[in-house]
Amino acid sequence: MELYEKLEILGAAAKYDASCSSSGSNRQGKVGSAALPGICHSWANDGRCISLLKVLLSNKCIYNCAYCKNSTDSDVPRAEFAPEELVKITESFYARNYIEGLFLSSAVTRNPDYTMERMLEVMRLLRQRGFGGYIHCKAIPGASDDLVRQCGFLADRMSVNIELPSQSSLQLLAPKKSKLDILNPMGVIRNAITEARDKKSIHAPEPFVPAGQSTQMIVGASPETDRQILLLSGALYRNYELKRVYYSAYVPVTNHPALPGITKPPLLREHRLYQADWLMRFYNFSSDEILDERLPMLDEYLDPKCAWALRHMEYFPVEVNRAPLNTLLRVPGIGNISARRILSARRMAKLTFSDLKALGVVLKRAAYFITCSGKYEPQLKMSPAYVYRALSAQEKLPVFDAGIQTSMFDEARELSAMRLLGRLQA
Ligand code: SF4
Repeated sequence: MELYEKLEILGAAAKYDASCSSSGSNRQGKVGSAALPGICHSWANDGRCISLLKVLLSNKCIYNCAYCKNSTDSDVPRAEFAPEELVKITESFYARNYIEGLFLSSAVTRNPDYTMERMLEVMRLLRQRGFGGYIHCKAIPGASDDLVRQCGFLADRMSVNIELPSQSSLQLLAPKKSKLDILNPMGVIRNAITEARDKKSIHAPEPFVPAGQSTQMIVGASPETDRQILLLSGALYRNYELKRVYYSAYVPVTNHPALPGITKPPLLREHRLYQADWLMRFYNFSSDEILDERLPMLDEYLDPKCAWALRHMEYFPVEVNRAPLNTLLRVPGIGNISARRILSARRMAKLTFSDLKALGVVLKRAAYFITCSGKYEPQLKMSPAYVYRALSAQEKLPVFDAGIQTSMFDEARELSAMRLLGRLQA
């Protein structure tokens, strides 16, 4: 099989992995191109967009995960790179400025150790030949601890996909995978990161996944609620020092009877989970307070911070001239930057609503939840139903739901309002 043909098959096979974002761009320039198979885009910590070659080393999988196009039961073209072949392609794309790095994953071929060894070989060859580009490597659940550690000294980031939010769903949909096999390499990576960090304070460190570890979870293929998903993410952030949990809306590509009969990926749900995840990572929300057992799903028509605030009006109004940082951060319409600006500006003078606007506070959201020197913004209507409608009307539906008819949208939003408000009155 020609190398380019392999690249087409294995680049397409890797596209469902969300832990590296793919833009599907067709950009082509004099010195770079994103139109080649397997090229995707990701964002560095500093917000820079970087192009990566995102491929599987092999899609000849011995596992039979129900949701996966590459499962052993699927009838798809199969291919496998020899490590030297993938090294050659990576080097040549890098030299031509098509890519800045490699996102390396693989189906489980023969067994986890065999697969991980071949991935290790790719990275070893690349680094030996002086490749300084970014490498994100997937750890294969079930591979030996030693192999996982060796990979970590060559990769910039590693990830182990948690795949599904519970052991029972794993058993049903990915019967050859177990929670233990997934959590074990995560633990190995976490321990090695800690060791490297400790050594750093004594002498020059041997870098171990300097960009940290991440994971990916499929959303909507199994019955877990958003609350269960967020609780799991919170535990992963706490216990495994993850940089990111990626949520991947389930894409229906197989007809397995145990999978839900949906035709479109639940992208709005994925979007809301990312917003809730953001609250945990940057706004000091704990995973068990964003949702509760009586209302375990994120609201479709309100972002999670507004929905949380409406359910917890006992914490409001917040007096902006006195509230500490953490309390300000809980207010819809006040972000990390505007909260800090408020803290420094109020040292000079008492803040008014127009001052807040100038400091970057989104008043059309925040006004329902704050006072300035003990007073609400004048002429504000404050019934919960009114506030819900006012806030949800400001929500810009993400582009994937832009086709919803306005009348249907209004009806659905009313239903959602009744659910949340019913919960408020319960
Ligand atoms: S291990 Fe499962 S998810 Fe991964 S390639 Fe094989 S069948 Fe697909």
